[in-house]
Amino acid sequence: MYAAVKIADDKCIGCKLCISTCPDPNVLKFLKESKKIIVSDDRCKGCGLCVAICPKKAMSMAAA
Ligand code: SF4
Ligand code: SF4
Repeated sequence: MYAAVKIADDKCIGCKLCISTCPDPNVLKFLKESKKIIVSDDRCKGCGLCVAICPKKAMSMAAA
């Protein structure tokens, strides 16, 4: 089943813990300009590790 994470920009503090936790270094990217995280949906495996590690609970799983 296809799954990807959603990020609530208003909660994200740009700590980048999710990036260092994700098993694939190409899925999550930090945008310097906005200090926010973006997700490449086609690469995300839906493992949920980033959701579990986020200290601000800014990430959630989104089934599509
Ligand atoms: S772990 Fe959470 S707060 Fe930290 S950069 Fe990722 S989404 Fe933002
Ligand atoms: S759910 Fe897993 S594969 Fe997808 S962005 Fe989070 S840590 Fe990476």
